Amino acid sequence: MTTSTGRCLCGGVTFTAAPKGGMHACHCATCRRLSGGVLFSVDCGDSVRVTGEVATFASSEWAVRQFCPACGTGLFWRSNDGAVTMVSAQAFDDPTAFALEDEFCIESKPATYALAGDRPRLTTDELYARFAPSGA
Ligand SMILES: [Zn+2]
Ligand SMILES: [Zn+2]
Repeated sequence: MTTSTGRCLCGGVTFTAAPKGGMHACHCATCRRLSGGVLFSVDCGDSVRVTGEVATFASSEWAVRQFCPACGTGLFWRSNDGAVTMVSAQAFDDPTAFALEDEFCIESKPATYALAGDRPRLTTDELYARFAPSGA
């Protein structure tokens, strides 16, 4: 398993993580509002080790978002059971390491933008169905 490093904008928070694959793009309203765009994230399971203090916001019943309290960089989506941490792909020191694999919550994507290329585009219902076995 390869370990990758990353950090927030100010460097107050750094992390190491073992990514499980490429990037997922999420178009849901929460991710768009939080990131200011599309949120590109990478599934790092429970491998994320953080140095520095993060602020935590409960963004849904099943997960929290974590960010740097000093610079505001959104870093992590964590399931409440700790099994899954989705790490912001752009927070990694080398975000070019991740190919864009699929898009989530495609029905929430505004018509004002679109990501070029062909890949699976899942609705929110399809996304929940995919992760239901792990208790998401
Ligand atoms: Zn920071
Ligand atoms: Zn989302």
